[in-house]
Amino acid sequence: MMIAKSVRKLEGYVPGEQPKNRNVIKLNTNENPYPPSPKCAEVLKNFDLDDLRRYPDPDCTELKAALAKLNGTTPDRIFVGNGSDEILALAARAFVENDEAIGSLDPSYSLYKTLAAIRDVKWVGNRTDGKVALFLWTNPNAPTGTLAARDFVAKTAKSFKGVMLVDEAYADFSRDNCMALATAPGNRNVIVMRTFSKSFSLAGLRVGYCVGPKPLIEALVKVKDSYNVDAIAQKVALAAVKDVKWMRANVKKVVATRTKVAEAMRLRGWTVNESESNFLFARPPAGIEAESVFRELRRRNIFVRWWGIKNVRDFIRVTIGTDGQMQAFLRELERIRRR
Ligand code: PMP
Repeated sequence: MMIAKSVRKLEGYVPGEQPKNRNVIKLNTNENPYPPSPKCAEVLKNFDLDDLRRYPDPDCTELKAALAKLNGTTPDRIFVGNGSDEILALAARAFVENDEAIGSLDPSYSLYKTLAAIRDVKWVGNRTDGKVALFLWTNPNAPTGTLAARDFVAKTAKSFKGVMLVDEAYADFSRDNCMALATAPGNRNVIVMRTFSKSFSLAGLRVGYCVGPKPLIEALVKVKDSYNVDAIAQKVALAAVKDVKWMRANVKKVVATRTKVAEAMRLRGWTVNESESNFLFARPPAGIEAESVFRELRRRNIFVRWWGIKNVRDFIRVTIGTDGQMQAFLRELERIRRR
């Protein structure tokens, strides 16, 4: 057969819908509702087309230097990817033998299971024993939004023989993070991964990075495409890092809105997980089905996320938008409740 057996049986990852209609209130893929730094616009406006004629820097030298400074480490402990999704795929390629397994929290980011299937290795939930060679620990977790204590992550990593990749896609919205574990001099197996897609408002740019021990970073470099991060992405991400206070101001707004919306939903009878991220994971009051809320909202052009799978089908996940967008969302919840 022309198509590998592992691929024939593959279901493939289904990302959240990206509707063409710009009038939709889009609260389904955890994007930031606020624009990226104006410094990014400046870079694009002044971009020299000669930089497109040539190949980009395969090592992301300038961007890595800026990220090293931001995180209190050195560039040789940083890897930059075409979105953090690419880094996850490369980690599955670099750190897992064919007879080993990939582990993650369950429920968590469902791409992990797909990556294991693409790699044709086993996936296991909530375990780091046995054949698990790579554990993907989303912290704060998605879709639940909950944060695991740094000490707990450190302790688990210490007793784990494989690579512990802490996926901190949402860490900028959180009280704490595990970056110190990645930058610690004695660190043997902890990689902390971040993305520009959420807090930096640059999901369309496709840039993520990770910090870890030098040998693991070097392994990722070996298995990547030569030019995995394009010239525009490198420059725009660099501008965003240099204007990190813009990002922090946006994060502050999102967190303030998150607190208000969680409170308002609880008042309407919803059970809302304590969130350390830019979304809420919430269960409707008795008598209302999560799926029907999802569909009702969608009919009204408000997109949230719902999965018809075990453990999560009674919840919706709603990304924190602007105050205005969230008011529209809350109004619809009220209407659904009154029906
Ligand atoms: N990790 C988690 C937990 C996510 O939710 C996402 C976004 N879907 C990613 C990684 C991927 O982010 P990106 O590829 O945009 O950096």
